[in-house]
Amino acid sequence: MPLSDKFGRPITDLRIAITDHCNYKCVYCRTGNEGALYSDLPFSDYLRFARVFASLGIQKVRLTGGEPLLRKGIVDFIRELSQVRSADGSALEIALTTNGHLLADLAQPLKDAGLQRVTVSMDAVDPERFARITRVPNGFFNVLAGIRAARRAGLDPVKVNCVLLRGFNEDQIIPFGMFAREEDVVLRFIEFMPLEEDRVWSPEVVVTLDEILARMAEYRPLVEIPHARSETARRYRFDDGVGEIRIIAPVSHPFCGHCSRIRLTSDGKIRTCLFSVWDHDLHALARRGASDDDLAAFIQEVVQRKEARHHIGEPDFIPASRTMVHIGG
Ligand code: SAM
Repeated sequence: MPLSDKFGRPITDLRIAITDHCNYKCVYCRTGNEGALYSDLPFSDYLRFARVFASLGIQKVRLTGGEPLLRKGIVDFIRELSQVRSADGSALEIALTTNGHLLADLAQPLKDAGLQRVTVSMDAVDPERFARITRVPNGFFNVLAGIRAARRAGLDPVKVNCVLLRGFNEDQIIPFGMFAREEDVVLRFIEFMPLEEDRVWSPEVVVTLDEILARMAEYRPLVEIPHARSETARRYRFDDGVGEIRIIAPVSHPFCGHCSRIRLTSDGKIRTCLFSVWDHDLHALARRGASDDDLAAFIQEVVQRKEARHHIGEPDFIPASRTMVHIGG
């Protein structure tokens, strides 16, 4: 039986944060004063956990962080991960989410090691604005080089994630549309969620799916194309067929009903939802000498506690016990 929760949602998608460190201090994510708060584990621990998850039916693993490319040894780790088989004998789909700062030199080695896809986070296509958001000078051209290297390496489709904040970078919508067409990448706008260190979220700051579509239509109309039910993003093409835009709208159009995800933090805690108010210590269990069967039983039990949905914007909303950068987005 594939892993599924008490609502019958199949859990097929594991995200592993392989470090809590990040070299960017994006204003909507971090305070800029805090560094890493949690430890990293040896790769052998993540590999063991990935094997156990895979034996339960996990099919996709996405590496994230913090910034995963800061972690030395990631290429060898991916090579080993690519040998892991899911319960049905198939190889895992391996993907990576990165800020792209170090990607230019790593894209080809990562691809050769077995990485299939990459998502690069980029919140402005204007170098100065990019520096103001990331609080790192001259990052933009590194990231652009990373995106181009990923395309050359065949890490297709290269996706670019952009989080929009009202009054800050919503004027980047149309430039991002042009960027998607010129660079031949899938551009994904993500609604801002209350998962930041600095508590700056309010419903008014969120630039919603409807607004993004309306603004982009001033440049060129978008036509919706079908998406799989389990996909979190709605998909659009420009009317001339060039360039794909996706919108992930957890705030205005929640998709919790078909969430297939589970997360492992850099210090080995399982999180069943981005908005969980507790986590489940897989690493502590392993350290106490648990067998793989014990770990599998623990994972199955934890999955049953997966939350039905998030409560963003509702009066009973309780902030998550960790912010995005310390969970792994
Ligand atoms: N460092 C990597 C990166 O930049 O992609 C991986 C970690 S980062 C936390 C993962 C993603 O979460 C990024 O695309 C980032 O823009 C997004 N993110 C961070 N805070 C967010 C928030 N409050 N709402 C929506 N997305 C957020």
